Amino acid sequence: MHGKEVLILDKARNSGGRLSTRRHPLFSFDHGAQFFTAKDTEFLQIVQSGLNNSEITTLTHPQKGKIYIGNPVFHPFVSRLKEQFHVEQNALVTQINKSPDKPNEEWQISIEGRQTIHAKNLILTMPAQQTEALLPNYLHALKKTALQAEFLPCIAAMAGIEISASDVTLVNPENPELLPLLHESEVISWSIAKWSHNSAQDAAYLSVMIHANPQYSERYLEQDADISADKLWSEWLSSIPNSHNFNISALPTHISYLKGHRWRYAKVSKVVNESHPFVDPSHSIALAGDWLQGPRIESAWISGRNAALSLLS
Ligand SMILES: Cc1cc2nc3c(=O)[nH]c(=O)nc-3n(C[C@H](O)[C@H](O)[C@H](O)COP(=O)(O)OP(=O)(O)OC[C@H]3O[C@@H](n4cnc5c(N)ncnc54)[C@H](O)[C@@H]3O)c2cc1C
Repeated sequence: MHGKEVLILDKARNSGGRLSTRRHPLFSFDHGAQFFTAKDTEFLQIVQSGLNNSEITTLTHPQKGKIYIGNPVFHPFVSRLKEQFHVEQNALVTQINKSPDKPNEEWQISIEGRQTIHAKNLILTMPAQQTEALLPNYLHALKKTALQAEFLPCIAAMAGIEISASDVTLVNPENPELLPLLHESEVISWSIAKWSHNSAQDAAYLSVMIHANPQYSERYLEQDADISADKLWSEWLSSIPNSHNFNISALPTHISYLKGHRWRYAKVSKVVNESHPFVDPSHSIALAGDWLQGPRIESAWISGRNAALSLLS
């Protein structure tokens, strides 16, 4: 990027952050963001590359119009974007240090279980609360910025059902290849189901992703997420209507996979007002993330671009 050497440190085992994919030998789930919208010209170019490679596809959302979803999941798209960079997974940053009175010094970055590394410029892109905790006290203006943002949690349930390939048309008569179901209920804010196939085994796999609404998620955040997954799965089964698109009664009752996941900082409910600084040029540090721009993938990307440009200038 602009002739600079970029290193990305990510504490997670897999890349993607809240756009990551949970994979299982038979099923796969985008358990964070389900889709995104795109308007920014540069961002659209990246999206177009994903469409050209069939890593993503489009869908019409009843309220948002054209949306982009993983085909069938976001993992290949994210992996290809990641290839352009040096990314270290399992790299939990525990501290960042620089003497307040020596702003031209390099940043010292402590990583759990690894050697400290040094960097001239630093961009922090974790959710606001985690950013605030990592910032040294003397960067109080940036700390204050991070304190402005608010997030809502989301509990996700991932359910996988195996079925014989010939029975798919009984469940899904209209479009046996791929039929996402968008569905809301009292507890569920969103769900989508995707088919995958293994012709050698004469088997098809339905991966159902369910997100609880903010009220349920806040209430049960500290509960074991697998207990919530049970509840969300029952709710999904009982409230999804039998329709010409999806015949629930033809689904086997045996479920092969059911797991819950807690997103403590899922969706930004209060974006930081732009009057708050996101960069300290004298100390070569900037902040980025959806909480500075808007509660969406595209906004997080724009925020990252703004942070990089602010340091380069
Ligand atoms: C359930 C759910 C549904 C969503 N639905 C949508 C949607 O439909 N459409 C949409 O546009 N957006 C949606 N979003 C929001 C979208 O996912 C986010 O806006 C976007 O992913 C934020 O990107 P980010 O880079 O700012 O943060 P993140 O994706 O959270 O990335 C932060 C990264 O920092 C890493 N990290 C954190 N702390 C450390 C540390 N100390 N050391 C090293 N690494 C660290 C994390 O591992 C992570 O990789 C959804 C999010 C969730 C959770």
